[in-house]
Amino acid sequence: MSDTPRAQLIHIDVDRRLGHEWDEWDGKPLPNRGDYDSSPTLFFAWSALALVVGLLLAGLALYLFGPRLGQIHPAVPRVLWITLVVTGLALWAWWAALALSFATRRALLPERLAERGPFLRLMSLTSRVANRFGRRDWVENASVKVYNALALLRNRKVGTGELLVLIPRCLSKETLDGVLGIAGKYGVPVFVATRGQLARRVIRERRPKAVVAVACERDMVSGLHDVAGKIPVLGLTMTLPMGPCKDAMLNLGQLEEWVRAYVV
Ligand code: SF4
Repeated sequence: MSDTPRAQLIHIDVDRRLGHEWDEWDGKPLPNRGDYDSSPTLFFAWSALALVVGLLLAGLALYLFGPRLGQIHPAVPRVLWITLVVTGLALWAWWAALALSFATRRALLPERLAERGPFLRLMSLTSRVANRFGRRDWVENASVKVYNALALLRNRKVGTGELLVLIPRCLSKETLDGVLGIAGKYGVPVFVATRGQLARRVIRERRPKAVVAVACERDMVSGLHDVAGKIPVLGLTMTLPMGPCKDAMLNLGQLEEWVRAYVV
């Protein structure tokens, strides 16, 4: 009889329904009890690394495939190298303008070039790079802080009925009561979005003029990527002392400040 080891099916009993962003969670407590509070400078450091990695990979691809592309026309590799250098310089100039805008709290770039445009793609790229080093949640926390700071520079105001507060299904009861209290105080509708898809549907159907969204860092970055390009959003991340997707807590004072930023 063969004694080849058989594949083991590892089953983790979880007392919650995990969002797909947490599929690989091993059931152990999260670092720092799920509080990923980080300095915004972390985003700038990691986004600079992400840009370097992206440009190096593009350069490597061009180095490897350049000779073949040269068979199409001898000028093709040179044109592509020039395009890469110009794109790289433009990206670094844009990144520096973002950093300066954040540091001086002045809106130096139009919205479509800042928090509602390529910034969202840079956030996603930075998350992917940070994920490789196991730093995703910390870096995403910093990214959301930078995003909010840039979005607040627009000083946008909407009516109470035009704002939507989107919350996830994982808030602790105490936190949920606090959120409902704030929403009631300002007469702002609240929706529980059980999945990102549902959040997008609620936004499509209700057509709010602005959104204050609450989610964990992972869900927030993917949600902002889908929604923030279309309407103004402020994002509030949570702490997860009981692990992902259960009894999450948030800074209610910050939530009230975000709501006030739009409606008062
Ligand atoms: S927002 Fe809550 S329910 Fe959604 S993935 Fe994050 S922790 Fe899970």
